[in-house]
Amino acid sequence: MIPFLDLKRINQPHLEQIREANERVLYSGWYILGQEVERFERQFADFCGTRHCIGVANGLDALTLVLKAWDFPANSEVIVPSNAYIASVLSVTLANLIPVWVEPDPNTYLLDPACIEAAITDRTRAILPVHLYGRCCDMGPIREVAEKYGLTILEDAAQAHGATYNGKQAGNLGDAAGWSFYPSKNLGALGDAGAITTNDDVLADRIRALRNYGSSQKYVNNFIGHNSRLDELQAAILSAKLPSLMLENKRRRTLAKLYLTGIANPEVLLPPADQLEEDVWHLFVIRYPRRDILRTFLLERGIGTDVHYPIPPHRQHAYKQYAHCSLPISEQLHGEVLSLPLNPSLTDEEVIYIIDTINQFSD
Ligand SMILES: *Cc1c(COP(=O)(O)O)cnc(C)c1O
Repeated sequence: MIPFLDLKRINQPHLEQIREANERVLYSGWYILGQEVERFERQFADFCGTRHCIGVANGLDALTLVLKAWDFPANSEVIVPSNAYIASVLSVTLANLIPVWVEPDPNTYLLDPACIEAAITDRTRAILPVHLYGRCCDMGPIREVAEKYGLTILEDAAQAHGATYNGKQAGNLGDAAGWSFYPSKNLGALGDAGAITTNDDVLADRIRALRNYGSSQKYVNNFIGHNSRLDELQAAILSAKLPSLMLENKRRRTLAKLYLTGIANPEVLLPPADQLEEDVWHLFVIRYPRRDILRTFLLERGIGTDVHYPIPPHRQHAYKQYAHCSLPISEQLHGEVLSLPLNPSLTDEEVIYIIDTINQFSD
């Protein structure tokens, strides 16, 4: 059996360093906002090439705190891809803002820059490009539109640790970026964790306060803040794993190449490969019109898969006020996408077995 994801196996190469990190924190006697968080923030900011990194409790909070810190008037609009992960959209509503859907490019599944301008109104304040599946959005034209209309850009980089766009790191391509270190991400903690990267000093200060009750000085509160702190234990674990990220992304890329050259089933649509070296292959997503039949076929042959994601946000009960929206590209994608196993712990043999199985399939 090849499970879609085996976190125990993924963390196996890091066990020794994780154990050391745990001991260090245990014996330090300091568990919240200390040296470990500061160290990881410095390391991750350096990795992204940004001036600041602020550790927070999870990826949803990272996005929400940026939008709150920007302090837009209530009911301002934020442009989001209509095939976003639910957390990207939740951050907008949790910050009392209105999501405005823009369809993805059907070839890349990413926010289509050509469709943004038509969605801008005089209440639009920000664009939230999601670097879905590990590939950066086409940020050049997105920045042009943002500059033309005076909009800020919040990258959702939760699936893009180490991805680049024209050689520049994700997380340093907009005004701020939200990160998640949920265990299954390319850089994953052993629990919930998140961060914000930015080059904006004022924004960074404000978010540091917002994550800690709105306080930058003990018992003095300038904002109505959250409790959204990255804890020392998770920060220490992330510092232990960060040095391997580039190598692990390289392994993902090698396996992605195997899939791309091996899968020869004419009805299976492969992901775009034109940015193969800049993409970090968080997920390897194929498309097949009768997805669920293929999924069952693979499962019966011992191959676990997943669907990212089965229901578009505007069709979720939570967003029932948008149920009438017609977003045909998103709706089609959600019915056809299938994620194959792809992570650094997979062997070539396992991936070749998956390829052969897909090539045998016909319905
Ligand atoms: C994982 C993820 C998030 C949310 O991260 P959490 O840490 O689970 O809150 C947000 N956006 C995208 C695209 C994600 O993949």
